[in-house]
Amino acid sequence: MENLRIELPERVDRIITILQKHGYEAYAVGGCVRDSILGRAPMDWDITTSAMPKETKALFTKTFDTGIEHGTVTVMMGEEGFEVTTYRIDGEYEDCRHPSEVTFTRNLREDLLRRDFTINAMAYNEKDGLVDIFGGIQDLRAGVIRCVGDAAERFSEDALRILRGVRFAAQLGFEIEGETREAMRMLAPMLERISAERIQAELVKLLVSGRPELLRDAYELGLTRIFLPEFDRIMETEQETPHHMYSVGEHTLRAMGNIRADKVLRLTMLLHDMGKPALKTVDGDGVAHFKKHAVRSREIAKNVLKRLKFDNDTMNKVTRLVFYHDYRMPAAAGNVRRAMNKIGRELFPLYIEVRRADILAQSMYQREEKVKNLKETERLYREIVQAGQCVSLKELAVSGKDLIEAGMKPGKEMGDCLNELLDLVIDDPEKNVKEELLRIVLLSSRE
Ligand code: ATP
Ligand code: MG
Repeated sequence: MENLRIELPERVDRIITILQKHGYEAYAVGGCVRDSILGRAPMDWDITTSAMPKETKALFTKTFDTGIEHGTVTVMMGEEGFEVTTYRIDGEYEDCRHPSEVTFTRNLREDLLRRDFTINAMAYNEKDGLVDIFGGIQDLRAGVIRCVGDAAERFSEDALRILRGVRFAAQLGFEIEGETREAMRMLAPMLERISAERIQAELVKLLVSGRPELLRDAYELGLTRIFLPEFDRIMETEQETPHHMYSVGEHTLRAMGNIRADKVLRLTMLLHDMGKPALKTVDGDGVAHFKKHAVRSREIAKNVLKRLKFDNDTMNKVTRLVFYHDYRMPAAAGNVRRAMNKIGRELFPLYIEVRRADILAQSMYQREEKVKNLKETERLYREIVQAGQCVSLKELAVSGKDLIEAGMKPGKEMGDCLNELLDLVIDDPEKNVKEELLRIVLLSSRE
């Protein structure tokens, strides 16, 4: 027990107090305690209690059986829901999702014992203060990720904890303690049995953390070999070209660090060069080339995202950005409008971010020109948006309907005609006026 105060949200304190008034124990626990002590805003407040799920439900007017078989009841306080979970002892995680066997207990110590890391195994309430049985506060202050109890045993029960450990190190800027680290290395192959959904959730948290480059640790520990072997390939691919100074993998890690902490952007940087290993050639001067690698990278990106069960929206955006990550052009308005047409208006600003992150992770060779070209591209993009210029069929001043009214028959020819008009307008935005475009159509049909 330590003399440390955490400002609990009023509603959390109220739930705890109500449980206590009826003779049960209750505490805020896990991530919220850890984050509060670190001065980070907790994502959510979890409550752990000696009350059985039925007993909890009897005390509150509105509850939901969120995960009742694992002892979790959501208690509503106004609009807000809080997960209240009965103290429990977990069996093995057989289906790699949920523990196959859950035993409820009236003993807080046993509940804390089932948790993954010391910094995640602390409980707090106003009455008892901080309950820290495994030295969590010490590890929190020292910045250490350490398993509760025997590391190898904990990872054998649930191998996802191995990846979670790296994720917490990345999010919090912590070091992984030696024994925990060795157990991670030893048991890495057990990640094979963990579901794609659980891997995905931890991978995304790692990628959007302050230190996405800790994916290097995941590689060195043998974790990516199991769930992202494509990453191991790029770590092992050197780039003998003046444009680069790192292996494909090291370049990728730096490119991730150069971009905003956004899921789509970080995934794009992770995957953007994965086509390189298979396409590498070395010319007579010993210079490496990776012709058309973006096409192959897109294929690999799609496979990886599918395998890890990402949603379609994420998959579409990322594969598109990966495909266009190396799309280059002289910075001229017409070129930029054409690129906006290909890449899509919404994704275009992300494409600029991707290119910047990529360039800044390359060597200094032609850096100035590359950056200058990109800045000018961005300026032109802003101008085009400001001026409301047309870059797609739906923004064209004539529609299929207009052409039909002008006497054209629907069909392939009409589609071609619209695309030709769009081409003209992309080159010369002044032409995007209905009368002007219809006049052009009439003229060409008379030829
Ligand atoms: P986040 O900020 O990502 O929510 P968190 O620590 O709250 O981090 P959760 O996944 O929300 O993580 O889990 C809440 C708590 O449950 C953890 O702090 C930990 O005590 C425990 N826990 C979660 N997953 C596991 C696991 N796989 N094995 C052991 N304990 C776990
Ligand atoms: Mg949480």
